[in-house]
Amino acid sequence: MFIYNEKYISKKENQYYSCEWIEHGLVFFKYKLAVCCNCGHAGSAQPLIRNNFIGQTIHWHRLFQIKNMYRRLHKKGKIHTGCVNCPYLREAEWDGGNYIEHLYISHWTHCNSKCIYCYSAGHPEEFSINKTYNIMPYIKEMFERGILKPGGQISFGGGEPTLLNEFEELVTYLLDNYFWNIRVHSSGIKYSKALARAINEIRGYVVVSVDSGSSEVYEKVKQVPKYKEVRETIRKYALETRFLGKYLVSAKYIIIPGINDSIEEIENWLQANEKAGLYTTVLDLEENWYKANRNNIPPHIYKLIEYAKKRSKQLHTNFEIYERLQNVLKDRNKKKKLLN
Ligand code: SF4
Ligand code: SF4
Repeated sequence: MFIYNEKYISKKENQYYSCEWIEHGLVFFKYKLAVCCNCGHAGSAQPLIRNNFIGQTIHWHRLFQIKNMYRRLHKKGKIHTGCVNCPYLREAEWDGGNYIEHLYISHWTHCNSKCIYCYSAGHPEEFSINKTYNIMPYIKEMFERGILKPGGQISFGGGEPTLLNEFEELVTYLLDNYFWNIRVHSSGIKYSKALARAINEIRGYVVVSVDSGSSEVYEKVKQVPKYKEVRETIRKYALETRFLGKYLVSAKYIIIPGINDSIEEIENWLQANEKAGLYTTVLDLEENWYKANRNNIPPHIYKLIEYAKKRSKQLHTNFEIYERLQNVLKDRNKKKKLLN
């Protein structure tokens, strides 16, 4: 579970290898509590706080004992195997305080979409657990006891957060208690008033993965006939950014080779984003396809990235690519260097 490597022993006084999540992070999954939910790197696992968690009492002193164990081992150069090559792992002076400021609510209990790439379809053992629990009592308890502090990031993702019975109450509670940086990954099929308020107050950020520029391709990817509704939700969220915070709403495009990997579809998506008043262009690559093909990326994928980047510049939008596409471009640059 831990791997020793001298390169992880800091030469600088009072510093060691850690990350914001080991130090002050907590993730509520449907069936476990973890330190983080990052899995796109070589280690590809999240350090655990507790398995089989389905809403039991959390003993906070025990939770921080576990976090302090991770800290102690990392100080000795013994890194959690799940953290190997994680881009968040870095050498720094950490404050060592027992509090949480990075929260991820990844509940996976409800969804109104059926994306062909959905993680849950490939992991039925994790998602067939029927029991669910409410997060709100934990959030209140943490905040009232001074365990949860504003200043970090509060994210919702995994399933469709806006369908959670407690979503509106949770976001409203966080806003009323002066939290900010509330990030929501949503299908966009359901509009949320609380999320709209968070965007309006420049304290919320929403990413809607549309993955298409037409209802035909949308239905191939999402397997539900909701393209128009999603576009309308995005337009309404974008209206909240009229005066400030114009980068707070984005419509992501996950390239799925064989389904939506055409210039025409990307162009339609970009034009729909412009019409909705969006200022951010976010591109990603489907995870399973990427894992199977990362050493043999066909040339047209690079062309799509370059096209989206060029058009994003012409449309004056902020161009972002996620970790997988960053790796695709890094690998290509490495190959070019080797050939020169
Ligand atoms: S280093 Fe990466 S994998 Fe490890 S806890 Fe931090 S974010 Fe998670
Ligand atoms: S919106 Fe998310 S949880 Fe729902 S089907 Fe798509 S990928 Fe899965």
